[in-house]
Parts: sequence; C-alpha cells; structure tokens
Amino acid sequence: MKVYLDNGATTMVDKDVVKTMIPYFTQEYGNASSLHYLGISAQKVLTDARKRFSEYINAFPEEIIFTSGGTESDNIAILGVVKYFRLQGESKIHIITSNIEHPAVLNTCKALEDEGVEVTYLGVDSDGMISLKELEAAIKPYTKLITIMHANNEIGTLQPIKEIGEIAKKNKILFHTDAVQSFTKIKIDVKELNIDLISFSAHKIHGPKGVGALFVRKGTSVKQLTYGGSHEYKKRPGTENVSGIIGFVKAMELSRQEDIDKMVMLRDRLIDGLLKIPHSNLNGHKTQRLCNNANIGFAFVEGEGILMHLSDRGICVSTGSACSSKSLEPSHVLKAIGLRHEVIHGAIRFTLSRYTTKKDIDYTIKHVSKIIKKLRKFSTLKEGVKYDTVEYEDHHEHEIYQE
Ligand code: PLP
Repeated sequence: MKVYLDNGATTMVDKDVVKTMIPYFTQEYGNASSLHYLGISAQKVLTDARKRFSEYINAFPEEIIFTSGGTESDNIAILGVVKYFRLQGESKIHIITSNIEHPAVLNTCKALEDEGVEVTYLGVDSDGMISLKELEAAIKPYTKLITIMHANNEIGTLQPIKEIGEIAKKNKILFHTDAVQSFTKIKIDVKELNIDLISFSAHKIHGPKGVGALFVRKGTSVKQLTYGGSHEYKKRPGTENVSGIIGFVKAMELSRQEDIDKMVMLRDRLIDGLLKIPHSNLNGHKTQRLCNNANIGFAFVEGEGILMHLSDRGICVSTGSACSSKSLEPSHVLKAIGLRHEVIHGAIRFTLSRYTTKKDIDYTIKHVSKIIKKLRKFSTLKEGVKYDTVEYEDHHEHEIYQE
C-alpha cells in the first residue's frame, strides 16, 4: 500500500492540472512577448491567469508577479525592499522576523545581517506563536519590514497575520508574509489583512514544481533584483512559464472547502490515533493549525528510524522540514518551541492532502504504533542518562529515560 503523507514537502499534481497544461507545451507554445498569433495567444492566456489569481486574493492583476516558487518570491520581497531603501540612501535598516521561518526567509535575513542590516528574530511560545506585544516592542524608528509566515511548514501553527498587518500599518512598516503552506487552505484577502507582500508556491497545492507568485501591493517599495526584459512589471524578468502559470491557477481553482473539512477530520483522526501511543505529544498549536498538518513527537526513538521503517511499509512522511531532513541538525522550529533534544529527534511530520483517505490514516496509525513499539524495545540508551522501566498498553516492558 502506498500512503503519501508528505504533502507539506510537495504534492501530486492534479490530473486536471496536467490536462490544462499540456496544450501549452505542444500547441500554444508561443513566447508571451512575441508579436505573432502564437505570442498574442500566450499573452492573452497569461493576462487571464493573472486576473484570476488576483481576484482569488482580492488584489489587482498588476500586483501579481509570477516567479519560480516560494523561495524566489520570499527573496524578491525581502531583498527587494532592502535594496529600495538602500538606494534611497537609508543608512540604517531593520527587519523583524520570527525564529521559526522557512529557510527561504531565515537565510535571506541572515545574509542581510552579514551586509549590515539589523534583524530581530522574534521567539515563539510552546505552541509556536509569536507575541504581538514583543512584535510591537521590537519596532525601531528605522524598521522597514516585518516578515512573518502565515503557516509554519513544520508544526502547522498559524500566526495572527491580521493583527500583525494592523501593527505594520499603524507603524507605517511594510508587511510580508510567506503563505506557501496556507494558500488555498485558508482564505487570504490582501486588503482585509493589510498585507503588502505575500509569497505563494504551486507545488504545495497540486500544481507544478518551479512556479510561484508574489503579491506586491501597488506603490510598495520593492526594487528589482535581476535584470533583463520588462516581464512581470520589471520585478522578475525572464520569459514567462506559461504552462506552469496556467497549471498553478488551475490548481488554485480546484481547491474546495469540502476538501479542507475532510482533511481536518482525517488529521484529527490521525492525531487521536497517534496520541494513544505512550510518550507521544502533538507539536504546534492545537486549534490554530493547518488543516493538513499533524506533527507528533515520539519520545525515546529516532525520527529517521521511524521514517525509514514507515517508508518500507509504503508510507511517506518527514522528520522536521523536508529541507532539513537530510541533515541531523535538530529542527530550528522544534528547538524554538522549547523541545528537548531527545524529543526533537523523535518528531515526525504527517501532512495530508485532499487525496488522503480514512484507510490511509488507519493504516498509518497501525504501522506507526507497531514501529514505535519495536524501536523502543531496541533503543539504546544514551550514556549518563538515568532510566526506568514502565509498562506499555500491551504490558510489554520497555526502558525509558527519566528527567
Ligand atoms: N516557504 C515555506 C513555508 C515552505 O514550506 C516552502 C517549501 O517547503 C517554501 C517557502 C519554498 O517554496 P518553493 O519550494 O516553491 O521554493
């Protein structure tokens, strides 16, 4: 049986999305800048896609910049704002972000710090929430940008972006949010939320990889980073990926409220089932969380071990975020919510999609329970750590660490 529960990393492209894209490879393959009929037709399609995208988030078409994905959108937003203010002659620039951002934001901010930009990394509480009071207190006279993600990719916690938007507006600071994980799962109205810049990616919503978008509110101070033709309102030059953009917009339009309701129901079934395993806990906020995310910590076992055993049984999950799962560095997000090392190493992220079924969930619960039991039985205890024995549900004796 194949069970894909790694939709936070990427998703299967919807068959209707593929169908929609195909003509743009072999028939309607014109360059949208060309003057002949194939070019005009590509331009029309692009204009229509931009309009549909903008309407979905209550923006204007000219506020949508299509990019190669979430990473590029985050970079254009953050670096573009800093570049603008530098060119204005500002000697001091300050950015506020959080310490649980995706590397696309975190590493961009770190690179800017090396160049002399001041960055405040707000901490989060044990649920992964920033504090609005701390945010307000961090504002300096030369703060130019607040960049705080909408939904965390590892633990699924949702930040209060409406309130953050209000604080930013009140203080005349630009507000960027990374909505790569929340897009189509939570309604986004850029006007209502006072957002100036927002990043999106197609491959998290059953669209193709390598396509994304950035909303840039009209008049927002963003300087282009790369140079070429005048595509994408001069904010992102390069021949437009028409087929990819069409696929992205189609994927967006295929999302349905009933799918979200189903994901919530199955996510909760998964959480309830997995929390029956002794010494397990839910990471992230209990209610303010993504409809498809269940991040569960299993104490006294290595997440990599669980992942490999699950993979052998056809189940795909991830440890921490996909980007960091190839390194054994503990997840910066799980560290930020205050988890101890040994708990962090036993965390597994399960992310559902509209294709996830009840059968998938029950199969996963069954196998995770078996695997944890097996791994704990053979788990080697770390030197210098005292341990005790406890009885598990099945009266099987295991050794566990003691505080
Ligand atoms: N931001 C968040 C929150 C993400 O989860 C991801 C992907 O994992 C990205 C940005 C990067 O998006 P992309 O893969 O489209 O570059």
